[in-house]
Amino acid sequence: MGKFNINHFICRSDNYGVIISDKNSGLTASIDAPDAEIIDQELKRNDLKLTHLFITHKHLDHIEGIEYLKDKYGCTVIGPEKEKDEIPLLDITVIDEEYIDFSGSPIKIIATPGHTLGHIIYHFEQDNLLFAGDTLFLMGCGRVFEGTHRQMFESLEKIKKLSPDTTIYCGHEYSLANAKFVASILPDNNNIKKRLHEIELLRNKNKHTLPTLLNDELKTNLFLMSDNPSLKKKLDMSDATEEEIFSELRTKKDNF
Ligand SMILES: [Zn+2]
Repeated sequence: MGKFNINHFICRSDNYGVIISDKNSGLTASIDAPDAEIIDQELKRNDLKLTHLFITHKHLDHIEGIEYLKDKYGCTVIGPEKEKDEIPLLDITVIDEEYIDFSGSPIKIIATPGHTLGHIIYHFEQDNLLFAGDTLFLMGCGRVFEGTHRQMFESLEKIKKLSPDTTIYCGHEYSLANAKFVASILPDNNNIKKRLHEIELLRNKNKHTLPTLLNDELKTNLFLMSDNPSLKKKLDMSDATEEEIFSELRTKKDNF
């Protein structure tokens, strides 16, 4: 396996905490800070000291633990320049396409406006890892709270272009509800049927469904499948643009 250990756990009700640490250097980052107490417990359990916090966006369920963790570990807090006034204790702010270094691994910042206007995701290029916050979920995408459907569509297009073997960690465990929605739109698609079944089995045992692989999302996440002919037909939108298909799906999901 790669150079990193990744520890993945549920906090609050359905947020994911993710801790990534370099096996050699010991440098350790948490993606977002949903719950300081649980993140701290996980750090202690694995004998790790937090050196970095990578923040994806300003929502309280992603930043509430920053103050405690910064105070306890003196970690470097990195987050989006566009939300710097709404995220506490940022040491470094970053913009689209900027690179930062984590333990010798280049991380590309990708701006993904839509869920919030300043939302960013962290792409560990060499390691094929993506921390997608609330932009992409397993078989779903984030609600569009601040941006436009066009912005969210374009943000997801950026993710689609990454290597299909990218492993993706997301901000929430929403997979079952997402899979049910997707199956309601394309009930006869075998990839979707199979995945819904797998997710049901996992969730019945209260197990995590994440991380996911981009390749699996390309086959089962309708929000990345706007060019799929059977989807267009099903929505009765054969002449529509991909962006229009995306927008229709997002609206349907909001009302599902
Ligand atoms: Zn959010």
